[in-house]
Order: sequence, then structure tokens, then C-alpha cells
Amino acid sequence: MLAAAAAFFGICSASAQPPGPGWHNTPIAETDHIKAGDSTIQVDFAEGPLDLPKSAILAHIAAAASAVATYYGRFPVASDRILIIPVAGRHGMLQGTTWGDMRGFPAFTRIRLGEHTTQAELDDDWMMTHELVHTAFPSMPDDSNGLGQHWIEEGLATYVEPIARVMTGELTAKKIWSDMVRDMHQGEPAAGDEGLDHTHTWGRTYWGGAMFCLVADVNIRRATQNRKGLQDALRAIVSAGGTIDHNWTLPQALAIGDQATGTHVLSQMYNDWKDKPVTVDLPKLWSELGIQSGPDGITFVHGAPLAKVREAITKPAGAPITATVLPREAQ
Ligand SMILES: [Zn+2]
Repeated sequence: MLAAAAAFFGICSASAQPPGPGWHNTPIAETDHIKAGDSTIQVDFAEGPLDLPKSAILAHIAAAASAVATYYGRFPVASDRILIIPVAGRHGMLQGTTWGDMRGFPAFTRIRLGEHTTQAELDDDWMMTHELVHTAFPSMPDDSNGLGQHWIEEGLATYVEPIARVMTGELTAKKIWSDMVRDMHQGEPAAGDEGLDHTHTWGRTYWGGAMFCLVADVNIRRATQNRKGLQDALRAIVSAGGTIDHNWTLPQALAIGDQATGTHVLSQMYNDWKDKPVTVDLPKLWSELGIQSGPDGITFVHGAPLAKVREAITKPAGAPITATVLPREAQ
């Protein structure tokens, strides 16, 4: 049902299901390693044609790892395996899926990458960072439909991915707020909505989840005079062991996040949003954040009531962490 995303969002999923074929019987052409702080990412290239040199793909993965490590203050898991599967005759990042706790690796990401992918397509790609954000939150229980609370997993990845990339200079704040103004409304509840826990549409899963994260970020910053934000809550969840290789309940994760910010924002919002269609006045929120839309895109209004909150959301909380591809002879 998430396939509707393919048209303009690509396909991504964080999955509790086993990966099936591909994990251990895919012939591997090359194995490389990336170091991100104390963590190691093993990158396996399955056999198959790729126009780009592997070094370009490794540099792209390292940039994604840098963004995620910078946002969370560390790379979320001690080791990660990324399997790149070339797809003959195609272009671009076609699909990504991330699993927790696979045969000794706390996280495993499988990426299907088109043979004719260009450097420009890699530069435009959000999926690699999105997948790595999935490592930084515990796996949520499935419901009888196998969907459960994927909205928080996808919502976090959708919200954090561009912010993390601003923190490492890959994107500008203007670009990502402009994208949010364009896209966030897709997360609003439609007629018949039964809240985020029970409405498994693409819009509510990705953008409904992202809208929950944005409103939570703003509310935490409002409640703490801009001293804390969603980033502090998410870092605390990771520090408490809440990564993709662990199965937690959502209230358990949110309680740890709330403790870190000294608020009840996440737990209270979850109580409101889980089984009711909560609508957000996005035009009002953009205006309070100091984002004005015009014919030439957005402009920032510096004196707006929440302009400082907007600035704080994309401001790095410490020195950036740079992930590096290890030279092959050192591997
Ligand atoms: Zn995802």
C-alpha cells in the first residue's frame, strides 16, 4: 500500500519482516568500510553493472552517514551493513529497506540502485540518509495488518533527513523549509481518518508522521524557551538503547524523549493524535516560523514570533561528525 509513494517519493520501508533473498546468497563483487565516529558501516556491492565508480557511491553513503551522525551526536548503531544491488538498465535510487538485528549487524539496509544512475541523481538523493535515520529509533510493534506504528518510523525519517543534511551543509535551510511548505499538507487527515495509529495511508504514514515531528519540535522549543528540541529527545532515545535492533513500544520511547526535554510534549501529543484526526493550521505555523511564500519561493521573516525556533531546528548542536571511507588496503 505504500507503493503509491513511488511516483514522487521513491519507495522506502523500515521492516520487521525478514529480508528474504539477498541477505546471504547474493554474490558480492566488492566490500568496503566506512568509519563514522566509533561505528563501522560495511558496504557490499552485489555483482552487476554500474556506470558510476564505486567511490562515488561510497562518498554518497559517507555523506549520509555524516548527516545522521551529526544530527544524533553519534552514528546510532555500532555496525551497519549496506547492500547495494545494481539494477540493469535503470536510473537512480530505486528502493531502500532497512531492517534491525540481522545476523550480527544491528542494522541492515538494502538499496536497489539503477545501473545508469548519474552523479547528479546521487546529489539529489534523499533515500540514503532517510534509510540511515531508520537505524536511530526502536522497531515498533506490528498490528494485525503488519503496519502498526510505522508512521513514527517513516515520519521521523522524513522529518530528520533534510534537517540532518542542512547541519552538514549538504542542503540549505531555505530549500528544506520550502519543501516542507510544499509537502507537509499531505499529512493532514482526510475524511474518515481514525488517527495515526489506525490510518495507514501513504500521506498519513510519511507526512502525517513528519507533521507530528515538526509540531512536536516546535512545541518542545516553545515549552523550553528554545533550549531543547526534538533532537534532544531523539538523542536520548538512542542513548537509552532505542535503536532499530530493539523492539520497544511507542509510549516507552516517547517517555524517554520527554524526560530528556523536561516536558510531556511527545506523550501528550501521542495521546491526542493516535486515534483522532488532529488537523494542524499549517499556514499559521509557517507564518509564526517566519516563512513567507512568494512567486520566487520562500523568504524568511526575521522578526516572526517563532523565527528563532526555526533557526534552532537546523542549527548543529555540536561539531559535525564526518564519516570517512577507509582505504581498501586498510580494510
Ligand atoms: Zn523509510
